[in-house]
Amino acid sequence: MEIITARKKMNASDIKMFNAHMHLIAMPPSWLYKTPTFNNDIDYALTDEDRAIAELDAYTRSGGESALDATCRDYGRNPEAIEKIVKRSNVNLILVTGFNRGIYLDSSYYEKNVNELSELWSEEVEKGIENTSLRAGVIKVGMDYMHIMPVEKKCIMAAFEAHKKTRAPIAVHTTVGTMASEFLDLAEKNGIDPGAIIFFHADRNMDSFYWKSVTERGAFITIDQIGKINYGTESSRAKFIEDLITSGFENKILLGTDFARRSNFEAYGYGPGLGYLFEKFVPFLSSFLATDGIQKETVLKIVNENPRGAFSLK
Ligand SMILES: [Zn+2]
Repeated sequence: MEIITARKKMNASDIKMFNAHMHLIAMPPSWLYKTPTFNNDIDYALTDEDRAIAELDAYTRSGGESALDATCRDYGRNPEAIEKIVKRSNVNLILVTGFNRGIYLDSSYYEKNVNELSELWSEEVEKGIENTSLRAGVIKVGMDYMHIMPVEKKCIMAAFEAHKKTRAPIAVHTTVGTMASEFLDLAEKNGIDPGAIIFFHADRNMDSFYWKSVTERGAFITIDQIGKINYGTESSRAKFIEDLITSGFENKILLGTDFARRSNFEAYGYGPGLGYLFEKFVPFLSSFLATDGIQKETVLKIVNENPRGAFSLK
């Protein structure tokens, strides 16, 4: 099994201590930043390379070794900055191509057809991202709350084509953890194996019955709001994870910290920052599960082995 990281192709077995959702440099494009959703709020401007490095250093000190940076072009991906960060840090980063959400898309996504989008995204996996040495290892797509916008549907079809060409897995932004079943229906109808699909933000909708029906079909799910107590307590996340483990889906779970605001990071003077996952949450989860007889090894398997299955070329 092979995984395409920012720098090079790696054996999947060399990937470990993994955070399945982070953002290092991100900034909504100016037309979007002005809209009421963002209201020019400086909190959304993750622009500082030195602070990103400081966060990655904290991540390394906590035991983290590899991670997915889930920032797409439509949410202000900055390949030049990421290239410098990749040179300065030892963390093995996987980068994404594709798009985040329909509401973030500029006119170019409306103008391009399925073929053109698919070629653009395949090129970022196979050759490189916007004249840098970086490569994308994952094709990201997204859906709106409780429905799929027509422009999202078109881009999803392009992502399916790019996946068939490159074998890179498909990661899916869900809004409030909805539409995963419908996405799998669409994927299966188009000949895509659910084992190549990873859903983000499952813990925005901590309905274990719902997510079991998704993992049962073979897809991976990411519990990535860890450290964001405004979206749910850590105990509720631990209980959600326990439900999935006891139902036999421990190999389908990924963990991440989807921090995308200055106020999530220590390096910007707030917290909890990228050290949190391995320093605080993983020990907490291990002791939570231990009270019900689930071994610490299961948690280690989730952060070490599951990403290899999820993010390898299919
Ligand atoms: Zn994110």
